[in-house]
Amino acid sequence: MNLQTLQQEPDIRIGIILPEDRYREIRLETPRNGDYQLVFANGRSMGLSPGLPLRVETQNGKLAVFDGDQKLYSGERVHIQPKAAAELAPKSGILVRDVIAGRSFHWKKYIDVHLPGKLELSLRNDTLFLVNVLPFETYLACVATSEMNAACPPALLEAQTIAARSWLLAHAENKHHELGIDACNDDCCQRYQGTGFLTAEAIASTQTTRGRVLMYDDEICDARYSKSCGGIMEAYEAVWKGKPKPYLVVKSDAREDFTQQFDLRREDDVQKWLTSHPKSFCSPHVVDESELSRYLGSVDESGRYFRWQVTLRQEELTQRLNEMLKLDVAAVQGMQVLERGGSGRIVRLGIDFLDANMHLHTITLKDQYDIRNVLHRKFLYSSAFIIEAKFGGDAVPREFVLTGGGWGHGVGLCQIGALGMALEGFDTETILQHYYPGSRLETLY
Ligand SMILES: [Zn+2]
Ligand SMILES: [Zn+2]
Repeated sequence: MNLQTLQQEPDIRIGIILPEDRYREIRLETPRNGDYQLVFANGRSMGLSPGLPLRVETQNGKLAVFDGDQKLYSGERVHIQPKAAAELAPKSGILVRDVIAGRSFHWKKYIDVHLPGKLELSLRNDTLFLVNVLPFETYLACVATSEMNAACPPALLEAQTIAARSWLLAHAENKHHELGIDACNDDCCQRYQGTGFLTAEAIASTQTTRGRVLMYDDEICDARYSKSCGGIMEAYEAVWKGKPKPYLVVKSDAREDFTQQFDLRREDDVQKWLTSHPKSFCSPHVVDESELSRYLGSVDESGRYFRWQVTLRQEELTQRLNEMLKLDVAAVQGMQVLERGGSGRIVRLGIDFLDANMHLHTITLKDQYDIRNVLHRKFLYSSAFIIEAKFGGDAVPREFVLTGGGWGHGVGLCQIGALGMALEGFDTETILQHYYPGSRLETLY
């Protein structure tokens, strides 16, 4: 996608099944209404009947397409596409079975997705690679309902759509450049699960915000977002490398300015903060946590995210460190917070441990992502936590109790907070101004 020439809606390329997924077979089905065709590498094409199940396989270093036992094609690559642009509707497009959702997360699962637009199938290192090419606004309508449930109030869907549009166009991190795609289908980029959850409301929220993006100076904002900041938003530079962004800063997610009372880089303030229940937009004061499942995307586990507690047992933690970091840990002696960001998220954590010869070592985890990933097999909700070591009869702690807040990196728009604001009646622009201070809205196309 070339931004310089962006005066009309571009197409976007989304990786659905990646070479790293190592698929050797993909099963699909053409829609029951609509006229689809196979387009071969040499430009020839073949019409496909409606509701036709197809199987794509790797075979002797080639890609082969089957209708039952009948081989329709064998070659390097093939496209499956509608003969004419199809209308966007819930569950429209080609059905692709068993696509990974939550790639590399503990809740990884396989889901069936309906994909609008064109599918490009090719081979990479003898595994299948599936790219969905579709109009950008169609993609955004699908993202809005994959990230959050379409039952959300319109202001939230609109704010989410504008953030997603801006983030993608800002292209601050194209993680899959070598694959020739703009983004993948998963949380690594933005969650895209096709038209399965699409509703009339989500289609309307993309239409009413069509082409609208957040700008700061002359640049499209790198509009980051996460599930729950925990009451105070984190700054860009506490999570990612690179220079600070003036619209991604530490800020109170409330009418009240909590940052006046709490400096969350300080341990005693963090202690008070995480054991208190401030009335932020993302707090249960505004959004009832038992109601969250009505609003969150369907693959999220519902639970308590604003304030939470997790216990790490000594044996589990030891095993985890040995597995994840290939260490020789006999027992963890303690953990020390070396640095926190302004939302209280730990960005450097020291872990003191004894090896089998009772020698003391220290390792440092230097990133909120690593901290969340290394400490817990289910990926900790966030790195904003305090640590309490509990002793049994031994010289080393029996367990560590983590009391934490928030879900995700906490930078930019807080999705549960934005939901809270929308439920309290704030409009789209006010919500975006709150989460991306100093930004302005502009219409690109
Ligand atoms: Zn990605
Ligand atoms: Zn928040």
